[in-house]
Amino acid sequence: MIDFVAKYWETLPDRQALSDCKPGFIWDLVPKEPPKSPESWDKIFADIEKVVLENNTHWHHPHFFAYFATACSYPSIMGDILSGGIASIGFSWKSSPSMTELEMACVDWVAQSIGLPNLFLNSDEGPGGGMIQSTASDATYVAILSARARAVANYKASSKVAWLYSTVSKALPKFSLKEVLKTKPTEYAVDEEDPIITFENHDASVIAKLVAYCSDQVHSSVDKGIMLAGVKMRKLKSVVGGPLNNYFVEPARLEAAIKEDRSRGFIPFIYVATVGTTNTCGVEMLRPIGEICNRENMWLHVDSAYAGSFALCPEYRYLIDGVELADSFNFNPHKAMQINFDCSPMWFKDIKEATCYFNVDAEYLKHEHQAVAADYRHLQIALGRRFRSLKIWFVFRALGIEYIQGTLRERVKLGDEFAELIEKDDDFELFVPAHVGLVCFRHKSDNETNDKLVAVINNDHRIHIVPGKVHGTLFLRLAICSLSTTSKDIHYAYKVIKECLSKVLQAKNN
Ligand code: PLP
Repeated sequence: MIDFVAKYWETLPDRQALSDCKPGFIWDLVPKEPPKSPESWDKIFADIEKVVLENNTHWHHPHFFAYFATACSYPSIMGDILSGGIASIGFSWKSSPSMTELEMACVDWVAQSIGLPNLFLNSDEGPGGGMIQSTASDATYVAILSARARAVANYKASSKVAWLYSTVSKALPKFSLKEVLKTKPTEYAVDEEDPIITFENHDASVIAKLVAYCSDQVHSSVDKGIMLAGVKMRKLKSVVGGPLNNYFVEPARLEAAIKEDRSRGFIPFIYVATVGTTNTCGVEMLRPIGEICNRENMWLHVDSAYAGSFALCPEYRYLIDGVELADSFNFNPHKAMQINFDCSPMWFKDIKEATCYFNVDAEYLKHEHQAVAADYRHLQIALGRRFRSLKIWFVFRALGIEYIQGTLRERVKLGDEFAELIEKDDDFELFVPAHVGLVCFRHKSDNETNDKLVAVINNDHRIHIVPGKVHGTLFLRLAICSLSTTSKDIHYAYKVIKECLSKVLQAKNN
């Protein structure tokens, strides 16, 4: 299988980025009923090309320019092999001590390498710390639920309890579960044997008052997180401008919304800021937004799924300026940091606070070290978790930070090169300036032409891109995704786009 994967990579450019398959293709290739007796590995192996590869989208093809990049490297693949090979489950320290502690060390490595302040480190004496979520969507959801629990706890608690927590908190070990915050079930004795239970920090009567805020440019995962959390959401209209000439929310707009909502009797409880929006790679102003959140007693979560990796290079540290004001921060090394999906570290300013809100301590999960050891099950939806830190450990050691910085700079260079072609072209215009490997551009005419152009490009199958839409204007996004994409491929993409445009304009004129 390793040889097969190596060959796949070597011959990837000979394939087509997008497959010609149609929905339902599987029923011609795979029997509807499971096998009754074992088949030979040779027979199974022989089906891989036909079933899996011929009918897949090749994310690492040099002509794949859709969505955002997904990362891959040989050391990372080795991490996944070892994780699958030893097949341990790490829901608690006891269930997998090395999984838990290597994760603590590796998220600290990542934090230091992108310039996160020490207050987020597991090795720091303070209450901050990090762990690895599966995806940015999970991180956002956990942040929303943590913020929700904090808001409910604050609403219910007397100022005395809040004072007690802040006083005792520093004196206790990092992972100790604080009795003052630990979610306790309240039983209603309608039926003595099967009472109705509500968890006090997740009380629906208070949740109904809560309002979350974010930009109108957030990823769809924020909408989903809010939906699942059952809270109200206010999306604030972004404006174009600032040093990047890209989309962001003006802090005054957030302040006005908070004031308005408080006067209506609602409780503002979280702002989800995006550093590197999916549409245009716009960046929120973390410092002024953070100051407002801190002042208003609101949780600030920072979703930097794609762009966060670029903070590995000192010249892109502007991305996380003000991050020390955030309660939680997350990005996906599985997008641009050579680490295969899934690997989405999340850092908390107070990791034990969130731990307390979701603590469900069944008898069979308890262990003798839980007062002082990290049990990451409390900070995610699922109980079980994989040995994801192996990928960070191998990649950082085998490739080194300087090499990864080089790949990030190459992505930016190629994006800028494509943006230059667009700028020189009379048919097209940049929608916003290219930013860290994402180029947003459009035909100068109207949405209809741009919509048709995207369809013709993707039906042509030589390259793959996806569109974006901001405030009603449709544009094309070209993201530098594959590490095997070169300047030649950028010029090829430009040529294909021009040919497809000719087809669209010809059809329009006929
Ligand atoms: N947030 C942003 C800004 C993104 O761009 C993306 C994906 O591209 C996500 C969240 C979702 O990432 P994941 O697939 O890790 O949930």
